[in-house]
Amino acid sequence: NMAQSRKSILNQTTKYDFHIKKSLGQNFLSDSQAARKIAVVSRLSKNTTVIEVGPGTGALTDHLLELSKKVIAFEIDHDVIPILKENTEGIGELEVIEGDILEQNLDFINDIEGEVVAVSNLPYYITSPIIDLFLNKVPKIQRMYFMVQKEVADRITASISTKDYNAFSILVQYKANIKNVMNVKRTCFTPEPNVDSAVLEFVKVDREYKANSYEFFKKVVETSFRERRKTILNNLSLFKSKDEMKEILEELGINPALRPENLLIDDYIKLSNYLGDE
Ligand code: SAM
Repeated sequence: NMAQSRKSILNQTTKYDFHIKKSLGQNFLSDSQAARKIAVVSRLSKNTTVIEVGPGTGALTDHLLELSKKVIAFEIDHDVIPILKENTEGIGELEVIEGDILEQNLDFINDIEGEVVAVSNLPYYITSPIIDLFLNKVPKIQRMYFMVQKEVADRITASISTKDYNAFSILVQYKANIKNVMNVKRTCFTPEPNVDSAVLEFVKVDREYKANSYEFFKKVVETSFRERRKTILNNLSLFKSKDEMKEILEELGINPALRPENLLIDDYIKLSNYLGDE
């Protein structure tokens, strides 16, 4: 019951003299049904190790512990850990790593036996770096379930030629198939944020047609979206003279008058492999 769990978060924060830190993106899930549902859509099993970013007071962690083999949770806020420990006591195997997720060496994850899945109600101020980290630096993890702001979810899942389709959509969609698996209202959190949220499922893909260098592909995509109202030709003139660039685009079968949001991921791969090869 929501009123009850909201009260219990507030009771515990008083007991431990804990102050919620907005700067760390602390919006705790106070709707236990929503928390349960996130753990369920993540399709865990007793062979799954879960990596959780930001367990906070453990609202999601206890459900993850019940449905998996083990949870390894990274939490930056030392003050919240006694509350986390109390709330997850005796439920399953929890390992807490204290520190900033973006500063950790995550190589050990690649050596974990069995399936490893990442599940998190993300701290929103570092949404993109965390998604980038799990997509590109932890090959062992093939599935992720991340709660993000609804608008960010719309951008990440955007289709070509829509206003939401941007460089980040392309970079993420290059690496994974993404699905919105659950919308979560702002009223499910304490304190209540100003926006609604959604849980996205990321399943990594192994593309047949790949960029020769991901770093260069990223550079081409980001340069192409420098100014989204400009043509692809204008934005890409950073790489070559305009005349040369026009010829290259035509040779690759890409209309130079298109805007960056009108190009397919394969067009960006083609462009990046051509430009990076010279
Ligand atoms: N999982 C909890 C829940 O759903 O109620 C808390 C989610 S809250 C949106 C984000 C959590 O991430 C907070 O506990 C916060 O302290 C933690 N956090 C913020 N920045 C972090 C970082 N750089 N590394 C690890 N954890 C971080």
